[in-house]
Amino acid sequence: MAMKRFFIEHSEILKDSPIIDGRDAHHIIKVFRLRLKDHMLLIDGSGMEYEAEITGLSKSKVTVSIIREYSTDTESPVHITVGQCYLKDKKMDTLIRHLTEVGIAKWMPIVSEYSVPQPDSKKMDLRTQRWDMIAKEAVKQCCRTRVPEIVPPVPFLQAVGDNSSMDLKIIFYEEETVSLAKTMVSLNQNPLDIFVLLGPEGGFSSKEIELAKSNGFIIASLGPRILRAETASISACTLIQHLFGDMR
Ligand code: SAM
Repeated sequence: MAMKRFFIEHSEILKDSPIIDGRDAHHIIKVFRLRLKDHMLLIDGSGMEYEAEITGLSKSKVTVSIIREYSTDTESPVHITVGQCYLKDKKMDTLIRHLTEVGIAKWMPIVSEYSVPQPDSKKMDLRTQRWDMIAKEAVKQCCRTRVPEIVPPVPFLQAVGDNSSMDLKIIFYEEETVSLAKTMVSLNQNPLDIFVLLGPEGGFSSKEIELAKSNGFIIASLGPRILRAETASISACTLIQHLFGDMR
């Protein structure tokens, strides 16, 4: 049976007897009921993976010894930041899961003109913690070794203005007709740091499109059909991985 994967704090890995606690310790002890000498795979978010053996078990902590460490090739060679205009209900949670699997590096919720609801700052910490947990579960499931960075929501104006360091900035616009591939032929780049901007259910206002354009964004189409927001975000990141990343 394939070894189960769990998180461990990076600071623990460097110790003689690393300890796993919290949610992952609960899974090891109560859910998977692993025993002394059982082996598992550990990830600490550094991009490395560790095979470990259980050397101690208590009610809430698991002590291990590291058998070997190695790097894996499941992290994308391109660093994709997704600027996702706020979507209704649980769609943002679902998106984080899927986009983590597709290999994004950073998740930036955006408050745009037509995005509904405007995020409730009081609940924002809880929401971000939930997204971090969803991303970590997806990382374990899809055998990644790094957890996407999740940042607090930013206003559209700040999102389009802040990302001057990016190699490539794309806003996928439902009124556009030229595909990214066609646009890139003229630009002919091998970008590493890519910012992808996707709209809410109500789409982008023409003012937002003008703002993105004046901040160096490429306006690109995802084809002749109007995709639901969550379909568009997954399609956009898959397209980026196909054109520049590890889905070529
Ligand atoms: N307001 C739009 C309408 O109903 O005509 C729909 C917006 S769509 C549900 C949400 C977002 O998905 C858009 O803002 C855009 O970022 C992306 N999207 C959907 N279809 C697209 C397409 N064919 N080309 C580019 N982007 C698309």
